[in-house]
Amino acid sequence: MKAGATFFFLLVLALTSSCERQEEARPVRVLVAGISHESNTFNPHPTAASDFTVRRGAEVLERAEWAQAMDPKEVEFVPTLIANARPSGVVARATYEGFRDAILAEVRDAGKLDGIYLILHGALHVEGYDDAQVDFLRRLRELTGDILIAASFDLHGNISPELVNELNILTAYRTAPHVDGAETRLRAVTLLLEAIERGLRPATAHINVPILIPGEKGITSVEPLKSLYERLPKIVEIEGLMDASIFVGMPWTDVSRAGMSVQVVAQDASYTERAQEEVVALASELWRRRSELQFDVPTDDIDGAIQTAREAPEPTVFITDSGDNTTAGAAGDGTLVLERMLAQRVEDAVVAGIVDPEAVETCVREGVGAPVDLTIGGKIDAVFSRPLKIHGNIRFIAPEPAAGSRRRPVVLQVDGIQLVLLKESRSFTSPRDFEEVEIDPLAHEIVVVKLGYLFQALRDIAPRTIMALTPGFASQTVEDLEYKSVRRPIFPLDPDMEWNPSFP
Ligand SMILES: [Zn+2]
Repeated sequence: MKAGATFFFLLVLALTSSCERQEEARPVRVLVAGISHESNTFNPHPTAASDFTVRRGAEVLERAEWAQAMDPKEVEFVPTLIANARPSGVVARATYEGFRDAILAEVRDAGKLDGIYLILHGALHVEGYDDAQVDFLRRLRELTGDILIAASFDLHGNISPELVNELNILTAYRTAPHVDGAETRLRAVTLLLEAIERGLRPATAHINVPILIPGEKGITSVEPLKSLYERLPKIVEIEGLMDASIFVGMPWTDVSRAGMSVQVVAQDASYTERAQEEVVALASELWRRRSELQFDVPTDDIDGAIQTAREAPEPTVFITDSGDNTTAGAAGDGTLVLERMLAQRVEDAVVAGIVDPEAVETCVREGVGAPVDLTIGGKIDAVFSRPLKIHGNIRFIAPEPAAGSRRRPVVLQVDGIQLVLLKESRSFTSPRDFEEVEIDPLAHEIVVVKLGYLFQALRDIAPRTIMALTPGFASQTVEDLEYKSVRRPIFPLDPDMEWNPSFP
């Protein structure tokens, strides 16, 4: 070979191998998107675009622990749009379609992708759609074919087999009250990257278990779920299996897929039967122990709860106004507990809080120290609640909120009760929420919050809790709700039904 030709040969060789090296070093590209909502179909007020927090582009990866845990030399995340809103009524059709189409447009322009990671809740329900999450996934598949798709969920999602069919990997929180959100998202991404790296085609075995319970009967640190959730990490250790989930479901979404479900992800089709065996075993055990799914705190009607709290030896008793639980999509403007506490002349209590934006405006106008006569609440939930006339003195007005935030709580003293009024639905789930309104909950005899179960940060401090079984869009007594679309038979609506887990 002549010198020139040799040089040319070596040059080509060098270029080829450097291209190969570049090819090898190219980080895998994972597109990220999400539409998350827990939709309460009993709440007649649709959830609109303005109710959502939307992060676009680089914002999607800010404070995303699952993204920060990855080496950018190995993974390039392609962020698109993540939208989530507090639990509330069904999502308006145009709102969902706007988010969906914005994501799909970015998918079209994204170039070559190796995988997709979706952050979903699982209890999304959209006006005019049977299952909007399936609609979203199918449109995504139309554009991306058989790309690997992984999704992380809240265990309160209502999951259909059609949705599972569109996903390769699915994983859900394993704690309720939830303390493993970050861990779950990281697990979903890690499993997706493992599948990409090893060239796997994971598929998920799934069974809907006909059990419809409020989340308050599905606490993961309490039996029977404690033992069942403890099995999940053991299932994952079985050869060929990648992940396992149990969904408690969301009973206030009246759709056919509502209720509990179980899933096991197999690394490829050759392990499907093994995954199915584990799913059947989990579903059978769940079904066998269905009657043990009970509240883990005492329950009572409103007057009974107030009475017990007043007589309790503990310095502070938390009462949860469970039918108006805003973390389950109820209105948050129910006045029934406050009305009964005023009637019973309770001397030292906090009610946190009641939604009434006009009343907040009035208080802000009047200023701290001013006396006010107001008719509050019972406007969003005009079904189970009613407006209540009160007279009080304004104790506290939060500073003007930052641009874009409507959050401005005020506190009134109404007889012996410190009443927090809110501009929009929110929940007091931790001591920090009380600090914001300068209230020390443990300095009062009774603290009423619009929750079902206490979230972990309040559980940690509450000397005692009573769940008041109040009427509302999140009524704990699902047997009393008028279901139209939930599949039947289902426990406990059809208490005598028989069932055996099987695959269609
Ligand atoms: Zn949840």
